[in-house]
Amino acid sequence: MTATLINGKAVSEQCLQEVAKQVGERVAKGLRAPGLAVVLVGDDPASAVYVRNKNAACEKVGFRSFSYTLPADTSEEELLNLIDELNHHAEVDGILIQLPLPAHMDSQHILERIRPDKDVDGFHPYNVGRLAVRMPLLRPCTPKGIMMLLNAYDVSVRGKKVVIVGASNIVGRPLALEMMLSGATVTVCHRFTENLPAEIAAADIVAVAVGKAGLVKGEWIKEGAIVIDVGINRLADGSLCGDVEFETAKERALMITPVPGGVGPMTIAGLMENTLQAARHHD
Ligand code: NAD
Repeated sequence: MTATLINGKAVSEQCLQEVAKQVGERVAKGLRAPGLAVVLVGDDPASAVYVRNKNAACEKVGFRSFSYTLPADTSEEELLNLIDELNHHAEVDGILIQLPLPAHMDSQHILERIRPDKDVDGFHPYNVGRLAVRMPLLRPCTPKGIMMLLNAYDVSVRGKKVVIVGASNIVGRPLALEMMLSGATVTVCHRFTENLPAEIAAADIVAVAVGKAGLVKGEWIKEGAIVIDVGINRLADGSLCGDVEFETAKERALMITPVPGGVGPMTIAGLMENTLQAARHHD
């Protein structure tokens, strides 16, 4: 079996077109275009690329974008003051603080300062909590993007055995909540999991978000399983790869996301949808 490649770039493009259409309809009715503030602290090159892509997506869908680039030695207090200002800004519907923040900052404390109704990344404990109690509002973007991607390929997770590798606050944990909300039977694996190959071998759907190139071997994948690779790893030659051994996994899987071009673009689609949702809430 050679897997169908799940084309996140194409699905994301369709989502962005839909968001652009809805923004056009809002503006035609005399409503404001949604506004997204993106804050970058420091000069991490990968973060700079992500921020550029997010600003470009804003332009594509017709959002107003407010971009802030602060030096790496910005104090926590200065960043908190900027967040307070954006929390009160009437034309800013969403606030995104690009992670990772410099080591001297307490990311959790910073993220909790964002007003939950402007937390378009969906990282605030309020929004994660809403998802946990099955009353989601703004949903964490990468897990949301993964659910949108599965939906676009008519994959129902209800009753399926889903194994998630990685238990971070931004991907693994909220993805487990999304999968449960959609009726999956979920196992979350992490660095202390004792027999990762056995867990993965039992999965109908495997989602991997660890950040270690080739951690998951193709031979561990059950024949006909669906593989969602969230990892983004840069190899010595400058190319990108995921956490799953792609060449061998695609010979066993029914469907698989490539890296790049799989989950990555869907995170941006999730972010744009969240910002539109936040703007509607602020009308
Ligand atoms: P993280 O470092 O916060 O968490 C990693 C998780 O992996 C932890 O829960 C840890 O317990 C687990 N882990 C570590 N080693 C393991 C092992 N040997 N076996 C099983 N589990 C192990 O990572 P993160 O922020 O969730 O990011 C993970 C990856 O996803 C990174 O490559 C990141 O770049 C990528 N990412 C991609 C997107 C996207 O849009 N595609 C978004 C966010 C993160």
